[in-house]
Amino acid sequence: MRPEILFPLFKPVTALKGVGPRLGKLIEKLAGGRLVDLCWHLPTGLIDRRFRPSVADAPDGAVVTLTVTVDEHHVPGNRRLPYKVLCSDHSGTVNLVFFNAKEDYLHQILPLGAVRVVSGRVGHYGQEIQMPHPDHILMVEKEAELPAVEATYPLTAGLTAKPLHRAIQGALAQTPALPEWQDPVWLTREQWQPWRQALLAAHEPDSPAALEPDHPDRRRLAYDELLANQLALAMIRAANRGRAGRAIVGDGRLRQALRAALPYVLTQGQEQVLGEIQADMGRALRMLRLLQGDVGSGKTVVALLAMLAAVETGAQAAFMVPTEILARQHFETLTALCQGMPIKIQVLTGRSKGRPRQALLSDLAAGRIHILIGTHALFTEDVIFPDLALTVIDEQHRFGVHQRLNLGDKGAAADILVMTATPIPRTLSLTVYGDMDISLLRGKPPGRQAVETRAMPLSRLDEVVAGVQRAVNQGARAFWVCPLVAENEQLDLAAAEERHAVLARILGPGRVGLVHGRMKARDKDQAMQAFVAGETKVLVATTVIEVGVDVPEATIMAVEHAERFGLAQLHQLRGRVGRGSRQSHCLLLYGSPLGETARARIAIMRETEDGFRIAEEDLRLRGTGELLGTRQSGFPAFRLADAMAHQDLMEVARDDAQLILTRDPHLETPRGQALRVLLYLFERDAAVKLLRSG
Ligand code: ADP
Ligand code: MG
Repeated sequence: MRPEILFPLFKPVTALKGVGPRLGKLIEKLAGGRLVDLCWHLPTGLIDRRFRPSVADAPDGAVVTLTVTVDEHHVPGNRRLPYKVLCSDHSGTVNLVFFNAKEDYLHQILPLGAVRVVSGRVGHYGQEIQMPHPDHILMVEKEAELPAVEATYPLTAGLTAKPLHRAIQGALAQTPALPEWQDPVWLTREQWQPWRQALLAAHEPDSPAALEPDHPDRRRLAYDELLANQLALAMIRAANRGRAGRAIVGDGRLRQALRAALPYVLTQGQEQVLGEIQADMGRALRMLRLLQGDVGSGKTVVALLAMLAAVETGAQAAFMVPTEILARQHFETLTALCQGMPIKIQVLTGRSKGRPRQALLSDLAAGRIHILIGTHALFTEDVIFPDLALTVIDEQHRFGVHQRLNLGDKGAAADILVMTATPIPRTLSLTVYGDMDISLLRGKPPGRQAVETRAMPLSRLDEVVAGVQRAVNQGARAFWVCPLVAENEQLDLAAAEERHAVLARILGPGRVGLVHGRMKARDKDQAMQAFVAGETKVLVATTVIEVGVDVPEATIMAVEHAERFGLAQLHQLRGRVGRGSRQSHCLLLYGSPLGETARARIAIMRETEDGFRIAEEDLRLRGTGELLGTRQSGFPAFRLADAMAHQDLMEVARDDAQLILTRDPHLETPRGQALRVLLYLFERDAAVKLLRSG
């Protein structure tokens, strides 16, 4: 249970005065829906209102504070023209300009002959100096109310500075002082303020330096977040290690049968990681291991061999994947590979319902199913494995830590193998995978040709379509990925449907398939199957195909609006081709003009296929300003910490977490209690629950 002291922070933003449902929605979209989200929404700029030139000296484009006398009101003859209030000081005149103004109101705040302090941005238009919509208009007596410096925040369409500012102030006003969770010696050394003071100060920058990530207040907040992250990971690791595992050493008969049936031999890299995994499974401790290998490196067969080792001992294995498509695909691949072996493989997804589902569950409970593949439906309570020895989680970056935990509870002592194709720069692997042992799968199966990557503007779409048509007529198969329209699934869908229609007209209706996130699972499978079987030659898709899909015959990957995709995602998409022995092509179609970052991304894509290199470049490109936390990248969402700027803190946090758990494994000391609050503050609730159960 979340401690009571944090209750105010987790209220919805609509609990704030002046925040109704409409504003609440906008804030939620921008920062998140609770007060704590507003607290984490830190300013990115500041406006200095201390610059007080005379009117004549106010530079074009600058924010200034002027003291002026109101001389005339110019009511426009036409509603579309602005309302102007002419003011002056000893040096010259300035027009305060208002669009859609209410005359009464303007007379009330700017009465003729009165002296007013106005603050805002000035512009020069020929001889005329204007200040459109001043940010502040004050009577001279109230001048002290003018803030010297004002923070500015990132906004979103439809949300303006003032209401957001007010909401943030409202949220800050409700933040409680919290017990100190940091080590006092460390605090003193870093000269950090208590949490609440640091938070308030971060929202009241008094200079540009206060906006930088290396400012003490920002570092304190970042460190709190990093410590919560590292502590949670360390607790999970401890809980996993603490539970006795079991030694899984099969007799090798199923694995031998599989190896004999494989149309290829394992690469050296595959043998190496398999060796590590089997050795780990063979120990009487619980395995929690990450298998990291680039797209197409051949992780699936490694996972299958590990699962067969478990099955050889008479136990079961579970194989969890993020999408229905992938579940089905793995089911088919694995079933084909294990043909003729005395084992039963089944698939369970959210779509499995009614009688078939019941039948499957009772088969499972009776031990008649040896490998169960599925989506998160595998977590459901009524899914009972009589003896689960190994859980494999594919494409881990699509799941959170929480799921990892839940699944861990399924088989009391089941080993866990997590697989990911998202290469992570070394500096970051700590924060993401601090709780796991890591196996690196290097290299790719032999015979792969480099994918030829080309970039061209969307204006050459017709050429590209003609090229795809030619290739298809010669027997090629192509993925066609449709534009990603930020945050709007509806539009994504429309774009995909439209492209499908166009391509179907040109290539022939039966030859083009469509798959997108809104489709029913059954229809998705059908579209995928038709493409795998070669009935359709082109598969138009939103990014549901991004992860893990394996169609070796596909040799063309066209990505529309490539500039809207992140590097990691482009790399994943390109990884869908170049899997067979034929030359493959990746066509990155971009909308012009191309921004600087997008241009750099595309250049890197053309330069290399090395996932680790791409990941490093990705991090470098996204730079310090951007948060690690986009879903596509697979990094955990940090609100306050910055991967580049706070690297040093990450390492300290890891050591700190270790030390804390050594001294106070159940977080029972006063500092331990405070650390529990920290964990809840950063929503590491699942980790705290381990304390009770463990
Ligand atoms: P990923 O690591 O991206 O999950 P997959 O496991 O889907 O990669 O493997 C990609 C392709 O490589 C599959 O078609 C698979 O059959 C093939 N493959 C795997 N291992 C080898 C190997 N040792 N030699 C040749 N082909 C292999
Ligand atoms: Mg895979």
